[in-house]
Amino acid sequence: MSGSKRMFEDHEAKRGIAIQIAIEAGVLEQCEFHDIAYEGNEEIESAYKLGNGKFSRGEFRDTFESRREMTDYIKNVVEDHPAEECPSCAHMRES
Ligand SMILES: [Zn+2]
Repeated sequence: MSGSKRMFEDHEAKRGIAIQIAIEAGVLEQCEFHDIAYEGNEEIESAYKLGNGKFSRGEFRDTFESRREMTDYIKNVVEDHPAEECPSCAHMRES
């Protein structure tokens, strides 16, 4: 496996975990019909707090090198999902 592919997979895995943390904290919501996350009701600080608690318990030891890296990923995935509702559901309703 080439180095860049491995890095890409790490990146995807880290993004996936960051999304899970954000969903668990209520910062992102997961659409029940689509595999899509969108903005939830909680502030992003809730996801940082939840992630930090898990990090302290050693849950992400194999994934993130530092808390800082974890919170950077959380910030990125939350900013990547700015929609207030699932875009696919919104689209289906409008068409
Ligand atoms: Zn949807």
